[in-house]
Amino acid sequence: MSPRLPQHSPPSHRDAIRGMLADLKMPGSLEAVDGILGEIDGGKLAATEAINRLLSAQITLRNNRRLQAAMRSSRLPAVKTLETFDFSFQPSIKREQIESLHELGFIDRKENVVLLGPPGVGKTHLAVSLAIAAAQRGRRVYYGTLIDLITSLEEAQAAGQLRRRLAVLSHPALLVVDEIGYLPVNHSGAVLFFQLMNRRYENASTVLTSNKGFEEWGEVLGDDVMAAALIDRVVHHCHLVNIRGNSYRMREHSELHRALRSDVENTAEAVRPSRKAKMAANRNRS
Ligand code: ADP
Ligand code: MG
Repeated sequence: MSPRLPQHSPPSHRDAIRGMLADLKMPGSLEAVDGILGEIDGGKLAATEAINRLLSAQITLRNNRRLQAAMRSSRLPAVKTLETFDFSFQPSIKREQIESLHELGFIDRKENVVLLGPPGVGKTHLAVSLAIAAAQRGRRVYYGTLIDLITSLEEAQAAGQLRRRLAVLSHPALLVVDEIGYLPVNHSGAVLFFQLMNRRYENASTVLTSNKGFEEWGEVLGDDVMAAALIDRVVHHCHLVNIRGNSYRMREHSELHRALRSDVENTAEAVRPSRKAKMAANRNRS
């Protein structure tokens, strides 16, 4: 294959391209265009790759802006993404299921996701990464722990604004309800939460996380009948992710523990004469 000859795009074309990108309000592409044209001129970049890079630069900028705006308005607690989730640490999770959820078809179909498992296994991480993926695609998302959401509904009720608050919380395409089960809920709070989930049922997706199995939700909500009705709605169109594994928070402790133990064992080995050495000593003695 003959090497690609350097071509120099005329300055008038460059200016026109810059002008059009500015006119189209594509600052991401505008910032990248000189570098890309330079690489084309140097014969380092094929046309398809150049177009790809130009458009990707704009999409990356737009997604970052969307993410920043969503982080402000959605109350997401941290940036957690699928890329930073270590599947090897949590073998009970089906990677394909999580990856396909991140394609977000479940939001279009108004289905729910329930993440169950003990503390530290990544429930919040995955719930937040789904919300971030949705926000980057321009969907409205909102995050709250169960207690936060109930408190905000109670405050609205006390201020005579319950209908409005319920409408606001029913609106996002994706609502994360985190930490169902860590703290008990009083009866009026449980009723408010039920009302919210009833409104969202078949209208918009909810991601729920809990350290308690469904059989214990009656206890959490202080009402078995209402919990059963709630679970019925939640699981009707639902992706269940049941995580059985160790806490990621504790992994450093367990690594430390293992390191300390092997240190102790090595020291003991060094101090304690090996079986071979003992046998040799015995042989020499005899
Ligand atoms: P949970 O909500 O199940 O109690 P979190 O999602 O809050 O657990 O996880 C605890 C911490 O460990 C978070 O900082 C989270 O980002 C991290 N974490 C958990 N699981 C993983 C994993 N498999 N890979 C990378 N980080 C993880
Ligand atoms: Mg959590």
